[in-house]
Amino acid sequence: MPPERRVIVIGAGLAGSALAVALAARGLAVTVVERRKPLLEPLPDVRGLVLSAASRAVLEDSGLWSRLAPSATPISRIHVAEQGRFGSVQLDAAELGRDALGWACPADLMLREFHAALLAADGVTVHWGTEFVGARAGEHGIEVAIREGDLAGTVEAALLVGADGAESAVRTLAGITLASHDYGQQAIVANIEVARPEAGLAYEYFTPEGPLAMIPRGGARYVSVQCLRETRAEAALALDDGGYAALLEQRFGRRLGAVVAVGPRRAHPLRRQRAERLVAARTVLVGNAANTVHPNGAQGLNLGLRDVATLAALLGPAPDPGEATLLEAYVAGRARDHRLVGGFTHLLAAAYASPLASVRCVRRGALGVLALAAPLRRRLVEGLGGVERLPPFGDGGAAATP
Ligand SMILES: Cc1cc2nc3c(=O)[nH]c(=O)nc-3n(C[C@H](O)[C@H](O)[C@H](O)COP(=O)(O)OP(=O)(O)OC[C@H]3O[C@@H](n4cnc5c(N)ncnc54)[C@H](O)[C@@H]3O)c2cc1C
Repeated sequence: MPPERRVIVIGAGLAGSALAVALAARGLAVTVVERRKPLLEPLPDVRGLVLSAASRAVLEDSGLWSRLAPSATPISRIHVAEQGRFGSVQLDAAELGRDALGWACPADLMLREFHAALLAADGVTVHWGTEFVGARAGEHGIEVAIREGDLAGTVEAALLVGADGAESAVRTLAGITLASHDYGQQAIVANIEVARPEAGLAYEYFTPEGPLAMIPRGGARYVSVQCLRETRAEAALALDDGGYAALLEQRFGRRLGAVVAVGPRRAHPLRRQRAERLVAARTVLVGNAANTVHPNGAQGLNLGLRDVATLAALLGPAPDPGEATLLEAYVAGRARDHRLVGGFTHLLAAAYASPLASVRCVRRGALGVLALAAPLRRRLVEGLGGVERLPPFGDGGAAATP
């Protein structure tokens, strides 16, 4: 057995940072390796990530939610519609007996707060500006090679966690293959201001080009996420502010009034990726290293935070956190959620990209049924909220936020 319950987490993105804080709260010794420097001031990652009820619970458990709560915007209603068609579905938190359907948090602010929590956590050592370069697993532990500039070193631990995102080197070096699908789309994200905002109202608007989401950020501010085919996306990125506002209005209409201000735009190529295995010897994957999904259902990070919750619950009491039976329990615990969310987001992307009349009929029928049936709407919200797919947890030791 390794001399201490040490876990090495590669990647201090949102999933890796949340995991490191959760493991430290459970008494494990954690080393984090991150190639970038800590984010002390928010950088303009303009995404407004929507967190589900399950994610909020996971973050409350490790004390992270209280850092986000002041800047989180509750979403009380989501309007789902298809371009050029009458009829829509309104998901309403009040109708479903909930405080909110989700919470929108600025991505850069989240990362800054998670890095601040890492810096403050007892039991966490972070190597910033350091690259993971390799690993050798033995019977009782794993030796991990890292490099900071010209300096090379090794760290030993019981378990290596790949939280190093979609291009995961941990995954590649562990010999884990990837199933991948390129959507041929880019998501262009921009902070905008609108003339007729509605507090807490988000839109998911499906068009043949790809979905378009409007996420409320309080007052007149919205985050627009516009998915476009690649060539169209390049042309859209080249537009000036006025041209981009006009394009948004042309696709989305003036449901929120005119678009009166547009901030910088950032494009994200869209791919579905699924690691064929989640574990190798003394190695495990979480977050985007395990799964990357289309942002149409706002599910990627939410899925990753449920990876974090499952792994933290399993490793918390374990004398040897790299033991094979624990890793197999993680695989079994995550299989259904990964299948459901990966399948749902992929199906949604495919259904709305298809020009086939039969597919058009089915999706309109589905929206129509959903519009009429409150129990189905409740089921959808519960499913996307993900609470039922959380493991029993809550022994993180950090105070929950009121
Ligand atoms: C347009 C868009 C909108 C989205 N909206 C939502 C939403 O509303 N809700 C939601 O739940 N999800 C959403 N997502 C998904 C979400 O952003 C991701 O799932 C999440 O950010 C992934 O976090 P991660 O920590 O797994 O990976 P990453 O953020 O990629 O972090 C990986 C980290 O590992 C580090 N790293 C990589 N390689 C190495 C190495 N060799 N050595 C050391 N460090 C390394 C990187 O520097 C990085 O810090 C959206 C995604 C997009 C593109």
